[in-house]
Amino acid sequence: MSAYTSALAEDLAPGLLERFDRYARVFTTSARDGEGTPSTPGQFDLARQLVDELRALGLDDAAVDEHCYVTATLPGDGPAIGLIAHLDTSPDAPGEGVEPIVHRGYDGGVIELPRGGTVLDPARMPELRDAVGHDIVTSSGDTLLGADDKAGIAAIMTAVAHLVARPELPRPTLKVCFTPDEEIGSGAALLDLDAFGARFAYTIDGSTRGELQDETFTAAEAVVTIEGHDVHPGFATGKLVNAARLLADLVASLPADRTPETTSGRDGFIHVYEMEGTAARAQMRAILRDFDDDLLEGHADVVRAAAARIAQREPRARVDVTVRPQYPNMRRFLEPHPEIVGKAEAAIRAEGIEPLRTPIRGGTDGSLLSARGLPTPNIFDGGHEYHSVREWASVQDMAAAAAVVVRLAGEWAGAE
Ligand SMILES: [Zn+2]
Repeated sequence: MSAYTSALAEDLAPGLLERFDRYARVFTTSARDGEGTPSTPGQFDLARQLVDELRALGLDDAAVDEHCYVTATLPGDGPAIGLIAHLDTSPDAPGEGVEPIVHRGYDGGVIELPRGGTVLDPARMPELRDAVGHDIVTSSGDTLLGADDKAGIAAIMTAVAHLVARPELPRPTLKVCFTPDEEIGSGAALLDLDAFGARFAYTIDGSTRGELQDETFTAAEAVVTIEGHDVHPGFATGKLVNAARLLADLVASLPADRTPETTSGRDGFIHVYEMEGTAARAQMRAILRDFDDDLLEGHADVVRAAAARIAQREPRARVDVTVRPQYPNMRRFLEPHPEIVGKAEAAIRAEGIEPLRTPIRGGTDGSLLSARGLPTPNIFDGGHEYHSVREWASVQDMAAAAAVVVRLAGEWAGAE
């Protein structure tokens, strides 16, 4: 029995895999400390390649702007619907020199990759067990694969090529957009929404086959800075105020059961992800996450209270807390337009898949786009174990995502 979800997906798979392999090899890792957008020049390499391909398909307005946003239009009958994926890959794993490997007809065993001693073990990666019989794509072991989000780009490009080749198939006006720097949280910031001209959009940036996500974390960042008083340790008695020790005490006082590794589902967390410091000055950065705005504010209060205790205990130290919003839960922007999620559900069902409605314990370009006025839920793209050298994707599931995009175009065709 075929592992494909439909004849359409099977028909799209070869073109999809050829594109995915090409895109994955382009070095598009973004950089948290990069200046400007895009944060790294390699993203332009992929952007220009995609513009050329879109023009070759006949999307004559395909272009890339100075911030590396690729846009193009496929005209049709109905409202302008955006299809969005991101060009960059995560800075959390090496992304240069990616060489994808296709493991045909996965037998359910352990997959050993040739480099880096990387092993994909279904005992530790349960989603691999659902992919027995699939063609699995991995990296060579010493880089990530980049299915996040080149699987999304390949799904959109393959669906657009299919619609171009079959003008009789129904479609609304489709607005394609590939964004830079999603992984560092600035992917949607500089997209000119008026020029883009979509009424609603979808990101193809999820994971497991069937996922449809209209809810993300509400996100903020907390930065705590402690200024101590540094004195030569030989003369420090009664004088030294050690910022590094004070910060360590502060972090240790944060609740141990409110971290990413101890929470799941709809529970939020405080994640201390960076600390640096000397006796003179120490700083920590934490991300605060929840699905509920009030609970998010509660996490910020916990950090503020911890800082206040340190300041009270050591009045000679200067303790500063800054909390900055990052992105909001997209649900409130999507609720007034139930047809956006409704048509995506219909397209996924038409592909023979039961939609999985899971909240995202993270953000997507759609979080910020929705808040900026372009309601944008997220659809699966068939990849797993993102941001790691164990990242893998199923050809059948990536093809299912491309088929869902074709069916989604059919759902919107002729709509008001
Ligand atoms: Zn992504």
